[in-house]
Amino acid sequence: MATPIGNLEDMSARASTVLAKVAVVAAEDTRHSGRLLQHLGIHKPLIALHDHNERDKANRILAELEAGRDVALISDAGTPLISDPGYILVREARAQGMRVSPIPGPCALIAGLSAAGLPTDRFLFAGFLPAKRSGRRAVLDELSLETSTLVFYESPHRILSAVSDIAEVLGPDRDVVLGRELTKTFETFYDGPVSVVLEQLEADPHGARGEFVVMVRGASPTPGGADSGALDLDRLIRLLMAELPVKKVARLAAELTGRPKNELYQRALALKES
Ligand code: SAM
Repeated sequence: MATPIGNLEDMSARASTVLAKVAVVAAEDTRHSGRLLQHLGIHKPLIALHDHNERDKANRILAELEAGRDVALISDAGTPLISDPGYILVREARAQGMRVSPIPGPCALIAGLSAAGLPTDRFLFAGFLPAKRSGRRAVLDELSLETSTLVFYESPHRILSAVSDIAEVLGPDRDVVLGRELTKTFETFYDGPVSVVLEQLEADPHGARGEFVVMVRGASPTPGGADSGALDLDRLIRLLMAELPVKKVARLAAELTGRPKNELYQRALALKES
């Protein structure tokens, strides 16, 4: 079941009722969730279920379920399994024919998207970007032509490097929206071209503090179709690069495809390096 991502009033009435009824609560961090239960006046046995022990603990929780005792699965914040533990447990419970029922509620990525003003008809949630710069840039490069809105989670100590890599790999003009400390006292949104947002973040003394949802406008669609267009575009850039310097390649490709010159420049550089 989902629990608040900052504001305790976001705990749904149904989630509280069910939490009060179950026999056992499986929680990522029992101390953290113990405080939530205490706030709600609920006292239940807690089982710790986190990334490092999920395989072992899943068996213990499955035994509880088999014995007919209901178990609530919660994480530290938001919806379990969304960049949080629970996948192995839910998969196994389903495989064994047990009833798994969602109790929906807060989720940082949905909260962010609902207020960002970026297209939400198609979005791609990619979890946390890799911690190392090379890995992060490789993932961004892979997503550079994706036309869906991109959504990432990011920790405060990597937010500046992540935004700076987005600017370099996807181009400084790509629109981004950062949702910081959503539902909390210091909730802040930064939005605009990524180069501008990076400056705002650097200039704000509290900018790099707190938790972030990073949302990025998708690439402009290629005329003539998404995936086939993407493949043709790379081919076009490679063909031009065989004859011309990168800057000229970007200018010509922009004229031929109608896509932003800077985006094509970044793509040409990435193809050259790969
Ligand atoms: N399961 C959670 C959910 O449903 O959103 C996400 C858990 S993930 C381990 C934690 C990350 O979610 C944070 O590093 C941050 O990127 C994002 N997040 C969680 N709470 C947030 C908030 N209040 N404001 C902005 N981002 C938040």
